Amino acid sequence: MQKEFMLGNEAIARAAAESGVKVVAGYPGTPATEIVDLCGGYPGVYAEWSTNEKHAFEVATAASLTNQRSMAVMKHNGTNAATDFLMHVNFTGIRAGMVLITADDPGGLSSQCEEDTRILVHNYAHLPMFDPSSVQEAYAMTKAAFELSEKTELVFALRPVMRINHAGGMVEYGAAAPQSRPAEFVIDRKRFVMSAVVEKESGGELRPKMRHRWLNAKQDELRALMEASPFNRAEKAPGEVGFIGCGIGYAFLKEAERIHGAKLPILKLSTLPLPEGKVLDFVSGLKKVVVFEEVEPVVEKLIKELCFEHKVVLEVLGRSGYLPKEGELSTNLVLTAVEAALAGKPYPATVQGQYVSARTRTQCSGCSHRGLLVALKEVVRKNGGVVTGDIGCHDAGTFEPMNLQATIYCMGSSIPMAYGIKKAGFDKPVYALIGDSTFFHNGLTGLASAIYNGGDITVVIAYNSTTAMTGFQPHPGSANNLNQPVTPIDPGAVAAAMGAKVFRCNPYNVEETARVIGEATAETGVKVVIAEALCYLKFGREGKISFTPRQVAVDEAVCNGCGLCVRTFGCPAISLADNKAAIEPSGCNGCGVCVSVCKRGAIK
Ligand code: SF4
Ligand code: SF4
Ligand code: SF4
Repeated sequence: MQKEFMLGNEAIARAAAESGVKVVAGYPGTPATEIVDLCGGYPGVYAEWSTNEKHAFEVATAASLTNQRSMAVMKHNGTNAATDFLMHVNFTGIRAGMVLITADDPGGLSSQCEEDTRILVHNYAHLPMFDPSSVQEAYAMTKAAFELSEKTELVFALRPVMRINHAGGMVEYGAAAPQSRPAEFVIDRKRFVMSAVVEKESGGELRPKMRHRWLNAKQDELRALMEASPFNRAEKAPGEVGFIGCGIGYAFLKEAERIHGAKLPILKLSTLPLPEGKVLDFVSGLKKVVVFEEVEPVVEKLIKELCFEHKVVLEVLGRSGYLPKEGELSTNLVLTAVEAALAGKPYPATVQGQYVSARTRTQCSGCSHRGLLVALKEVVRKNGGVVTGDIGCHDAGTFEPMNLQATIYCMGSSIPMAYGIKKAGFDKPVYALIGDSTFFHNGLTGLASAIYNGGDITVVIAYNSTTAMTGFQPHPGSANNLNQPVTPIDPGAVAAAMGAKVFRCNPYNVEETARVIGEATAETGVKVVIAEALCYLKFGREGKISFTPRQVAVDEAVCNGCGLCVRTFGCPAISLADNKAAIEPSGCNGCGVCVSVCKRGAIK
């Protein structure tokens, strides 16, 4: 074994490579993104960015059915997108070992919502899960997940949270072990064709019911595995109040114990299903336990159920009422809860911290989205109307100083939301603003629906040739995939083939962009405006930019200090001091978009 400092995502990729993973598929999503790229760096591993998480899950499952170990990688929002497939693959099971990485983001540090995918993957799909408490454990659990998946013929899930994916730690690791197995696909329709057909051998039962019974029967096997798992263990100490740490909750609990200064009775629980024997043994003799877990009271409720079934009288506290129900755990929160529980007191009411004004979310200086947002805002100002938003760097246009998009939900929702508003009778123009990666992820079907159902909207696709927000992963509109150059799929050509009227503009040219969006607005039906310009931050480094750089400066003699260029525009290079705007040369990339913003012509 060797030892090295690794980030959680590096440790997971390393463990997958050591387990002989052959196919890895994912869609970018913080905090899990880097795992796919890293896996692709190991010899013999095929890694890809699929167009969305459902497709990644399907690709990985297909590889498993073809006798190759595989892994699907996604963040929690992505697991939502993949849930339809999840609720079928749990019934069929898999062949070669397959791991699902479903990374959660407690507190929503880099997400549209905070959620707990243990509910989807375990409570709902009844699949087994590991919840790592350290980087080393993320490595060990990934390896164990491959082995146990193959043994049980079930997808095993790893649920790291942000503080594991992006945390660093010393990891003991072994050698990568490319596996050479025959890529054989054995046809077994009774298993891999999920359909409501009658099964003769089970007395005419329908197949979904039969496979459901198979999945339910697997739970006993899983419970026995988890009972024996080294990832669950009790640390005995005197006292009538016990503490249960799940995943990263255990890490916070150990830190709180160190600060508290005395050994506590602790049960580390890092698997689902729970090791019920270990839980019952731990709680015997205790009067109260506090469960620390991210994000929902999943384990807390399972323990309550277990105690009820076994007639154990125990007060079980946790996320369902004792601790704060929302947000991340922290050492401070856990320590406060430990000391309050030991003193027999309620968890103290949360005191709202003092709000420290933070820098608003905005795009990089030189970003093409800023020109697009300014132009679209101008059109909306003239015509009235609403802009529905989507996920990507352009979504910063929702906040100060742009305040443009009126809705943001999940990937691809901008287009159906836009035509839904029109179908409800809204009599002003409605615009859907969506990025290219998101368009291919889940925007295509929404566009087809809008066209098919006679929508009357203007869809604006910000086509910058990369998935910029998560770190520049390619997508079908890019000139490469993860492994090689490819011919990009032009979203405009796709939209035209569907029947949309397509318009094109360069968003660095604000006047042209506003005019083109205005022309599209004047048409009826579904119109698509392709605002095409390369992501400045990614492609600028390669010398590829979609504007002619120019030197800009504020003419102080003309500037009247109205502040429009700061209050409504938001380029980080522009500030206002002593009643005059100023452009910081070191932060300016010369895109020239600000020139259109100053109506007095003071920016030249
Ligand atoms: S990363 Fe690219 S798309 Fe995102 S804000 Fe920066 S320049 Fe714009
Ligand atoms: S540069 Fe133009 S927009 Fe900015 S403060 Fe001066 S006059 Fe106003
Ligand atoms: S100051 Fe103007 S030219 Fe410079 S990066 Fe900002 S918008 Fe572009």
